[in-house]
Amino acid sequence: MTDLLTLVTTDYAGITRGRSIPAQEFNPGKAKSVGWVPANMSLTPFDQIADPNPWGSSGDLRLLADEDARYRVLLPGAATATDMIMSNIAELDGTPWDLCPRTFLAKALADFETLTGLRLVASFEHEFQLSGTGWSQAPAFSLRAMRQADPFGPELISALADLGCAPEVFIAEYGRDQFEVTMAPSPGLVAADRAVALREVVRELAALKGWRASFAPKTAVDGVGNGVHIHFSFQDANGHNVTYDPARPGCVSALAGAFAAGVIRHMPALVALTAPSPISYLRLRPHNWSSSYTWFGDRDRESSLRICPVTTIGGADPARAFNLEYRAADACACPHLALGAVVRAGIEGIHAGPSDPPLFSGDPETLSAQDRRNLGLERLPATLGDALDRFQQDKKVSGWFSPLAQETYLGMKRAEITLAGEALDDALCARYAGIY
Ligand code: GLU
Ligand code: MG
Repeated sequence: MTDLLTLVTTDYAGITRGRSIPAQEFNPGKAKSVGWVPANMSLTPFDQIADPNPWGSSGDLRLLADEDARYRVLLPGAATATDMIMSNIAELDGTPWDLCPRTFLAKALADFETLTGLRLVASFEHEFQLSGTGWSQAPAFSLRAMRQADPFGPELISALADLGCAPEVFIAEYGRDQFEVTMAPSPGLVAADRAVALREVVRELAALKGWRASFAPKTAVDGVGNGVHIHFSFQDANGHNVTYDPARPGCVSALAGAFAAGVIRHMPALVALTAPSPISYLRLRPHNWSSSYTWFGDRDRESSLRICPVTTIGGADPARAFNLEYRAADACACPHLALGAVVRAGIEGIHAGPSDPPLFSGDPETLSAQDRRNLGLERLPATLGDALDRFQQDKKVSGWFSPLAQETYLGMKRAEITLAGEALDDALCARYAGIY
């Protein structure tokens, strides 16, 4: 049997699509590309192309493989290896296509590096739920929940290791049949690629067992949310973590504080890219440990940009693992677009000059509107429609995209809202659970 290698892109809908070639046709060192279609970027998650869209039936592109980003693993029970190579969307002459999300991230990271001389490292932490397993309910966070899934956990961790994704922790989460898996930090582009590989492999591993894994932000209105938490920190040329400064509030360095200020300031618009489905806003509500305000918090799981804890057990250096966590994201978002947007917002913050967002601890819901304003706590948009409006109004955020890219993204997302319908109910969550 001929193994297939799939050249993939993860698009504005956060869906990984591509075309496959016989694996032996791929020769490292020799450019490999396959055809692609501009209007694909206007595809809604419901498999209908937004109408109208700027592209129509005309035009041609290429998916150009990045030979440093191949993710291959033979999953237990699979007939052939899962083999994908992250690709950039390019014009026919190889120049990057204006709308390519992976190129958007690469450029944001390069600009950050030019501006600061630092490298951004990141890790995407994913929550997902299994269904169709026939299991009885096991207690939250329990050993039993993990053992009843056996050998799913060990198989997943082995698969991630084989893929080069550096898995760290497998967790039975709070929700019904909800799990989480974390990976070691890696350079920003690699981290986003790993997020893509992880999602595909989790879904396939579950499907091979006759189950379904879903990363949808909500699989039921009253269920626990599935978040994607994006951890990041900055390294200097010697590999030192310069996010940490024990002399400053929250131990956040001046540079990281300015970066955080940009993220907090632009967050109401950012969520249009990082929490981009109608049901994403069922999750972004207070008291869900998700995020619901423009809130910079020190070790608080309700905040939307969280200073993560560090341990000094065994003499560990607290600076090493110190990082910030962007929590207002979910798996309906393209990882490259989401991280790229966070990096762009951070760059805006650095350009705006030194300033730390106020650190808040408490419950914004118990404060008066005036107190919240004084503390910089703004409620995040309550619907995707509102988030898209904020995206359009925030000229810095929309300005990161060409007019054509904006038209494509907004047109696709508004079409998605129409196709999803008025009711944000269990039936809609079930539709999203089947897609993501
Ligand atoms: N499930 C929560 C979310 O939707 C996160 C819980 C946690 O802190 O791990 O983001
Ligand atoms: Mg979690």
